Amino acid sequence: MDKLNYKNVYVFAEQREGVIQSVALELLGKAKDLATTLNEKVIAILVGSQICGQAQTLIEYGADEVICADAPELKDYLTEQYSQAVYQIITKYQPSIVLFGATTIGRDLAPRLSARLATGLTADCTRLEISEEGELMMTRPAFGGNLMATIMCTENRPQMSTVRPGVMQKADREIGRKGNVIAFKPTFDTTKFKVRLVENVKEDKGKVDITAAKILVSGGRGVGCQEGFDKLQALADVLNAQVSSSRAMVDAGVIAHERQVGQTGKTVRPDIYFALGISGAIQHLAGMEESEFIIAINKDKYAPIFNVADLGIVGDLNKIVPLLTERLSKMIVK
Ligand SMILES: Cc1cc2nc3c(=O)[nH]c(=O)nc-3n(C[C@H](O)[C@H](O)[C@H](O)COP(=O)(O)OP(=O)(O)OC[C@H]3O[C@@H](n4cnc5c(N)ncnc54)[C@H](O)[C@@H]3O)c2cc1C
Repeated sequence: MDKLNYKNVYVFAEQREGVIQSVALELLGKAKDLATTLNEKVIAILVGSQICGQAQTLIEYGADEVICADAPELKDYLTEQYSQAVYQIITKYQPSIVLFGATTIGRDLAPRLSARLATGLTADCTRLEISEEGELMMTRPAFGGNLMATIMCTENRPQMSTVRPGVMQKADREIGRKGNVIAFKPTFDTTKFKVRLVENVKEDKGKVDITAAKILVSGGRGVGCQEGFDKLQALADVLNAQVSSSRAMVDAGVIAHERQVGQTGKTVRPDIYFALGISGAIQHLAGMEESEFIIAINKDKYAPIFNVADLGIVGDLNKIVPLLTERLSKMIVK
């Protein structure tokens, strides 16, 4: 394999029901940095049915080209159909790097492709950089998050990685930016289609999405119990925020997993993150340290959370949170 034949940074632009997912735009932002360092192009792979109209959005967020595979077979995500289409694109265009969102779709598709392409895949990367030799350095937590491992795929191409939503940042949108759209017609081996979509059942709309919240009031073991979380909810209500949690309280059954922040929960990047009674274990920090402004309340002045906090209050949250709620409710007129 001659590595020199493999060029450009590709992003699998995940869409659901025709809507480009935020993670795709975040990956384009990162791809732009990598491509600038390599002096190469950013290329988005867009797969679906009646989908090519979305290509301009990808161009405005940083794609120089969009390869669009449009076919009725690709209307809904199905592993084999999508694997065949993206595999054909990759083997034809020979990218050097391909990035996927670490979503249910990306986590299903990327391993299939890496096996078919006989190349490596690094999952859940938190940092992507280019080495002096022009190789992709993919960093992710290892050994339960206690150390960060940097992995390289030097022998095979493409270099592939998945990145969780919220980890990378979108570039600013450049309205009217110009780029090429290349139509790609995949050919399907339908004998391999073993799975048929029978019904699409929508997830319960009542579910919260803490990754979309501008302010998160997050509680840990120091909050103690449901009653403690009721106080956090009162603070969240005043701030128009969502309540989230460390894993300790999810494991204790106090809070639902969908609200867990961290390595095995969600990665969040709100404007304000309150860390209340949270010690700041590395696995928790992995999910929130990129927040714009972090306010920590902890009774232990040596708690590691204070190392990442912009504002730290040493004290008992049971006393401080109700006072804060009361004071803020007088200040904020809704
Ligand atoms: C593979 C793996 C994956 C993991 N994934 C995650 C993850 O996704 N998310 C996550 O959060 N954790 C995760 N963990 C667990 C993580 O290592 C920690 O155990 C967990 O984050 C601790 O939660 P905590 O900070 O709430 O509890 P603790 O570490 O027990 O901290 C409680 C804090 O509350 C303070 N406190 C107590 N009472 C009060 C009070 N009255 N007022 C103020 N402060 C008070 C204490 O001083 C202490 O600092 C993972 C661990 C492993 C091994």
